[in-house]
Amino acid sequence: MKDIFEHAKSNWVRYSEYELKEKDGILYIKPTDDAMPDIYNILKHKEDIVVEALNIGLLCMNRDKEKEAEQKEAIMGFVSRYGLLGLMTTITTTPSFMDYEIVHFIKNRYIKAETMDTIEYISYFYPFEMPQVEKDGLAMKWEISGDNTMMALAMTFTDRETAVNMSFQRNYAESYEWVKTQFLDWALLFTTASLYYENSFEDKDKELYQQMMTVFSTNSPTYHIKLLDKPTLVWNFGSLAIAAQMLLSLSMTDDKTPIRLCKHCTKAFIPTRPNALFCSSKCKNQYNVYKSRSKEEQK
Ligand SMILES: [Zn+2]
Repeated sequence: MKDIFEHAKSNWVRYSEYELKEKDGILYIKPTDDAMPDIYNILKHKEDIVVEALNIGLLCMNRDKEKEAEQKEAIMGFVSRYGLLGLMTTITTTPSFMDYEIVHFIKNRYIKAETMDTIEYISYFYPFEMPQVEKDGLAMKWEISGDNTMMALAMTFTDRETAVNMSFQRNYAESYEWVKTQFLDWALLFTTASLYYENSFEDKDKELYQQMMTVFSTNSPTYHIKLLDKPTLVWNFGSLAIAAQMLLSLSMTDDKTPIRLCKHCTKAFIPTRPNALFCSSKCKNQYNVYKSRSKEEQK
């Protein structure tokens, strides 16, 4: 994968344990009450994140009721490895939305309104315990009290946007359906692009596919130039979801080894060689065994 993100603010928070909890008929994913935070660098796990995210999305494309438990387990597994997606700072026009009077949204699958009151908006992500935030016009006051771990965590991320920092707190939760929809969108982005090249469509249909791709455009990471020993590009990921989508897009458009599906197990993988067709030597061997067996049977 291209490494244009050599310098980046790409640390993210994952908790030791997550749970599913319902409130007013909506199922949320949240850290458990005594879960401890841990900081990791998204870019150190970029290939795993992209491959796992895409495979979960492909799994979620199956609408079979029997698959629901498996999908839930896969999503919770991803969250426990990499943290929540940070959807709160993904669908707004900027992750620094706390600095403004109202929140503006990009086109998204969750909220139809174009703008919303800031406090009303953040309440979507704190269904069980609202943060102590006061907002008066542009002014904003955020207080954390009582929990030393949460205070220390907030201190660690003072260089990040307030909303990103707030989303690292233990009381932050994401709707399970919203998270699932995000995984599904990544799979749809991938399959739409794959189908386009695998089939010989008429021009009219080609146009439709090209248009479909624009639906998946989302927030990009922001950047600035830092004056180190030479001018250096520093990227800033507003959320894990923004990072994952950017990395998936880079992987899909990679000239030599784009992310693809294994010919045997049909799971996504990032090949190490340009012409690799299988995710592992195990899959390659099993595929060859099946092929020679079916040849035998035809004789
Ligand atoms: Zn495979």
